[in-house]
Amino acid sequence: MTEEVPKTADIVVIGGGVMGASCAYHLALAGVPDVVLLEKEPYFGQGATGRCAGGVRYQFATEVNVRLSIASLAMLERFKEDTGQDPLYRKCGYLFVLTDPKDLPTFQTNVRMQQGLGVGTEWLSGDDVRRLVPMMHFADAVAGTYHAKDGLADPNSVVMGYIEAGRRSGVRALTEVEVTGIALRGDAVAAVETRAGTIACEHVIDAAGPWAGVVGKMAGFAIPIVPVRRQMLTTTPLPQLPKDFPFTIDFAQSLYFHREGEGILTGMSNPAEEAGFDQSIDTEWEIVAMQAASERMPMLEGAGRLSHWAGLYEVTPDAHPILGAAPVEGLWIVAGFSGHGFMHGPISGKLMAEFILEGRSRTVDVSMLDLARFDEGRLIREYNVV
Ligand SMILES: Cc1cc2nc3c(=O)[nH]c(=O)nc-3n(C[C@H](O)[C@H](O)[C@H](O)COP(=O)(O)OP(=O)(O)OC[C@H]3O[C@@H](n4cnc5c(N)ncnc54)[C@H](O)[C@@H]3O)c2cc1C
Repeated sequence: MTEEVPKTADIVVIGGGVMGASCAYHLALAGVPDVVLLEKEPYFGQGATGRCAGGVRYQFATEVNVRLSIASLAMLERFKEDTGQDPLYRKCGYLFVLTDPKDLPTFQTNVRMQQGLGVGTEWLSGDDVRRLVPMMHFADAVAGTYHAKDGLADPNSVVMGYIEAGRRSGVRALTEVEVTGIALRGDAVAAVETRAGTIACEHVIDAAGPWAGVVGKMAGFAIPIVPVRRQMLTTTPLPQLPKDFPFTIDFAQSLYFHREGEGILTGMSNPAEEAGFDQSIDTEWEIVAMQAASERMPMLEGAGRLSHWAGLYEVTPDAHPILGAAPVEGLWIVAGFSGHGFMHGPISGKLMAEFILEGRSRTVDVSMLDLARFDEGRLIREYNVV
C-alpha cells in the first residue's frame, strides 16, 4: 500500500480485477470526484482476471450476452485511444467444434440469433472444421461455428489501463487493503471497514469476483456465486503451429486451445470439480487434460510444459452475471460472470456507473440480470459455457 486509506469516499469499489478497475474508471469518467478502489492483494488483477485465458468472443447462447459482447468488444477496439494502454486485442477467430449431434439444434438457433444481432458467425460442416484446423484430429466433428472477429486480449493491460487512466481522473486505487466488513445504518450502507481503517461512504460496489459472496455476507445477505477451480497450461514453442490458428474449442469435452506466444495454451474444464477456494494445481486432472489435448492435437506430444496455473470461475446458477442493486441501499453488485467475465469487463463497469448515476443500465439493458431473479425463478440459461 502506497497511500493512506481515506476516511471518506463517494463510492468504494471492492476488488481490483477487471470489474472493479472498469467500474472505478467509468465512475471517475462520469464525474464522480472521490472514487476509492480497494484490492486485498499486493497487485491489481491477480484474481480470476490475471488467471484467465484472455478469450473474447461474440458467440453466446443468449441475446443479453451477445449484446454485452457487442458493446464490450467495441470498447476494447478503442481502448488505447480511451486509456492510453494497448489491450493487445488480436482477432484470431473462435472455432466451436461440435462432435455430439445433440448440440446441433441449440447451436443452429444460437447462430441465427447472433446473425440477427449483426454478428457474422458462420455455420461449418464437419469437413469445413477439418479444413480450417488440419493439424488437429477431428474425425468425429459433425459441425462447427466460427466467427473471425472473436479473439484474444491481454487481461493485465486492460486492468492496468483502467487503473492508470482512472488515477489520472482522480481514482484512489489502493492495494493490500482487505475489506473486512460493511457497516450499515438501518438498511443502508454507512461505511466500509478494512484492516487499515474505516471509510465512510454511501455507495459500495461488490466487484470481488469469486469472493463476491463473502462480501455480500458482510452486509448480511446471500449472493449465489460459488468459486470453482479451473486450470490451464502453456507449452514450449511449436514452430509448426500456424500464425492464424483460431481459438479452438472441443465443446463436448470443454477442451480448448489457443496460440500463446510461440506455443499453445490449453485447458479442459473438470465437470467433477467441487466448489471451493483452492487455487492449487490438480496434477491428476492436468494429466487427463493433457492426454485429451494431445489426442486432438498430436503435435503437443513433442512439446514441453512452459507454465501452468489454476484460477477460480465465479459461478452463478444460470451462468449469467449479477449486475445491479443489492438488497441493502447503496450496495451494488457486479459479479458472477461464470467463466467469461474478462471480455465483459469494459461494458460492465460502464453499466454500473449508469446504474448508480442514472438509475438504469442505458447502454445495454441488463435489468433481467438482477439478484432477485434467483428468488423469483427468472433464470436465463447460457449454453456456451467452456
Ligand atoms: C482459468 C480461467 C480461465 C478464464 N478464461 C476466460 C476467458 O478466456 N475469457 C473471459 O472473458 N473470461 C475468462 N475467465 C473468467 C474471467 O477471468 C472472470 O470472469 C473475470 O476476470 C472476473 O473479474 P472480476 O474482476 O469480477 O474478478 P477478479 O479478477 O477475481 O477480481 C476480484 C478481486 O477482488 C479482490 N478481493 C476479493 N475479496 C476482497 C476483499 N475482501 N477486499 C479487497 N479485495 C478483495 C480479489 O483479490 C480480486 O483481485 C476465466 C477464468 C478462469 C479462472
